[in-house]
Amino acid sequence: MSTICAVSTPHAVGGISVIRISGEKAIEISGRIFSTTSQTPVEKMEGYTCCYGKIIFEGREIDDGILTVFRAPRSFTGEDVCEISCHGGIFVTNLVLRAIISNGAEPAQAGEFTKRAFLNGKLSLTQAEAVMDVINAQGEQALRVAVSSHEGALYKNIREISLCLVSLLGELAAWVDYPEEDLPDIEYSAFKTSLENSLIKLEALLATYDTGRIIRQGIDTAIVGKPNVGKSTLMNFLLGFERSIVTDIEGTTRDIVEENVKIGDFILRLSDTAGIRSTEDIVESAGVSLSYKKINQADLVIAVFDNARELSTEDLNIVEKIKDKNAICVINKSDLPPLLDKKFLADKFNFVVEISAKDKTGLKEIENALEAIFMLKQLDFSAGIVANERQRKCVKDAHFYLKEALDILSSGETYDAVTVLIDKSAQSLLELTGERVTDNVVSDVFSRFCVGK
Ligand code: GDP
Repeated sequence: MSTICAVSTPHAVGGISVIRISGEKAIEISGRIFSTTSQTPVEKMEGYTCCYGKIIFEGREIDDGILTVFRAPRSFTGEDVCEISCHGGIFVTNLVLRAIISNGAEPAQAGEFTKRAFLNGKLSLTQAEAVMDVINAQGEQALRVAVSSHEGALYKNIREISLCLVSLLGELAAWVDYPEEDLPDIEYSAFKTSLENSLIKLEALLATYDTGRIIRQGIDTAIVGKPNVGKSTLMNFLLGFERSIVTDIEGTTRDIVEENVKIGDFILRLSDTAGIRSTEDIVESAGVSLSYKKINQADLVIAVFDNARELSTEDLNIVEKIKDKNAICVINKSDLPPLLDKKFLADKFNFVVEISAKDKTGLKEIENALEAIFMLKQLDFSAGIVANERQRKCVKDAHFYLKEALDILSSGETYDAVTVLIDKSAQSLLELTGERVTDNVVSDVFSRFCVGK
């Protein structure tokens, strides 16, 4: 396999840059461009040691820095790895990279270091995916989930289930070989219980997907309310800067404006929808139907009501429309004298918060409501969570085949048919952890990484 190299720090000016080299010739190539000031030449350096030296290219010194050596298999990729820390200018970093390439290394593809780590058995596929999640984590919870996956929580859980299925397949194979012998009841019922237990574990894992998505990508949030209740003002308040156009003319927010905002430990993907009301205006009514669609898709609805106006039919329609959703009822304009029937709203919603978007009060109450609804702090990530669409599909397939297997087992089908289905279920799990996976899937997973990782 070739020796690869890439800048592993961001492509920007900084204090230092780290350039990583991995492969059989990593140490040899480093020795050619790195002149150490210590007694030990680079080729003789032990793993997990570093030294200071000059970086030489085309006979001249281009920079000085630190070289760290990792010897196979005790490195991130499992190969010999050298990391050169040089000064963090873009020009000098690229020059060092060029020096490495002209001495025989190839530029790494996106995610190639992590891919090699996977291929060399340093990481399972789910752990490799978690590397990316750690990098992309935008909040405490996202990081906690990513770290637990990186430590192999999901991998261990899945592996336990797949080992159980494989041992059940072994039992089945024995039974298939002796079809004339009737099975003792005890064995049959123990077998069925094992299948059922695995099915329950897969169901529990599938249920983690929504939480995982919310933690990683943020809570898909729709702000709804009739015109002029202060939706755009609230959005600007949450964002901390002017984003939507705030006006006194009804129906000015025609399309959906989307922004990410961090409230406490939550990331909300906010969309300020067109005010909901029946309208003759074609452009605006397109906006309104988009709002309804948005409500259906949203993880959370922030329903805004006007403290200074009485409840109208439009308000009641909104209450009706969102009755099955996770919702926070926001009573806005609390700085104005009240005319609103708050008791009615308190009966309809689990979470009612009074704010003034104009005076910027009530943010903490919104955060408290979010904590109560999503309860992320109490979650236990030790069994791992399903973190992306690829993983979800594998767990879903495994679940589907296992359920089929159970169904036909109960209906008295032959063990041959049951075997095929359990085998398919186990295959889906092996695909999930990457133990049996096609090159296409592997390439697809790593193509989403950045170069240098
Ligand atoms: P939208 O149509 O729901 O997006 O409402 P806007 O955000 O455009 O606000 C409508 C009007 O209400 C504007 O004149 C805002 O300045 C005013 N407004 C918004 N929030 C408050 C508030 O908390 N208190 C008061 N007094 N006025 C507000």
